Amino acid sequence: MDQKLDLELIGLTKRYGDTVAVDMISYHFSAGTYACLLGPSGCGKSSTLRMIAGHESVSDGAVTLAGRDISHLPPAKRGTAMMFQNYALFPHLNVRDNVSFSFKMAGVDLATRYRQADAMLELVDMTELADRLPSQLSGGQQQRAALARALITKPDVLLLDEPLSALDPFLRVRMRAELKKLQRELGITFVHVTHGQDEALALADEIVVMNDAKIEQAGQTRNVFDAPATAFVARFLGSHNVVSMPDGMVAVRSDALQLTSTEAAKLPGTITNIEYQGTHVALTAAVPGEQEVTALLSDKDFFGNPKELGEAIGLNWEAEAAHALAQ
Ligand code: ADP
Ligand code: MG
Repeated sequence: MDQKLDLELIGLTKRYGDTVAVDMISYHFSAGTYACLLGPSGCGKSSTLRMIAGHESVSDGAVTLAGRDISHLPPAKRGTAMMFQNYALFPHLNVRDNVSFSFKMAGVDLATRYRQADAMLELVDMTELADRLPSQLSGGQQQRAALARALITKPDVLLLDEPLSALDPFLRVRMRAELKKLQRELGITFVHVTHGQDEALALADEIVVMNDAKIEQAGQTRNVFDAPATAFVARFLGSHNVVSMPDGMVAVRSDALQLTSTEAAKLPGTITNIEYQGTHVALTAAVPGEQEVTALLSDKDFFGNPKELGEAIGLNWEAEAAHALAQ
């Protein structure tokens, strides 16, 4: 991968009046990375993406691409392209004209821009639907048209703001796989904003977890998931228990909890909920300190030794499964 096409955020800040939407964030995206900005609504993800794209002014700090400061360039001059949450297709233009729209604005002749548009439509498997209006397309097809429109400018970085949120759950999982495949084929950097942890885990080489205008934790997806640094990250990623122990707060993955006799347990508990999840059973227990923890047990383990609501149990985990948390 061409190292020269790295994208870097340096002390990037966005203020809207008195609101600090993005507070001095810095991050280095290596060229060709699939990165997800993950965090709850209002934490500053879209503002960050729009500053990278040039659809929002930078209050402080800089965005560089290939070492060049692009913070104040117009969107079309940056080497980035953006795909919007609602796709923003023009309703009165057919798919081919939507896809080639930016080329029309740039004064590219008709034959050239249609040739390029058709190449992009082939890439996203939409050749057959080039003459349709957006209203004649399904949600997934509209998404592909919007992707083709973003990619026609041959960006080095594709920015996607909640690209799957308008799709039903089944289609969301299918389009998620298509996005990943497309990114692999193109080899360009994708920066994908989502508030869904499963989406981020499925797609991202790197996750940037944001909270309250700042980066809470960032890095290789598995490293972040395996070792959340703060209670916020552990809770937001899910599948973790955050437990206060005498020597401090720790995160333990739900699938790392084991049932044991009450004497041998790190934590004694009382079962408050048993949820059958097909391959697994999620067993929730009240533990000292008015806390609850959830153990994810394989269906074999659970039904080999079934438990009942209200039953006293012991919970244990390997020492290395617990990660000390800041705060
Ligand atoms: P996210 O995409 O993570 O939901 P946003 O970047 O949209 O977060 O918003 C971050 C914060 O900035 C929120 O408090 C939001 O209300 C505020 N905000 C976003 N856009 C504007 C705007 N155009 N004017 C004023 N405040 C804004
Ligand atoms: Mg947003």
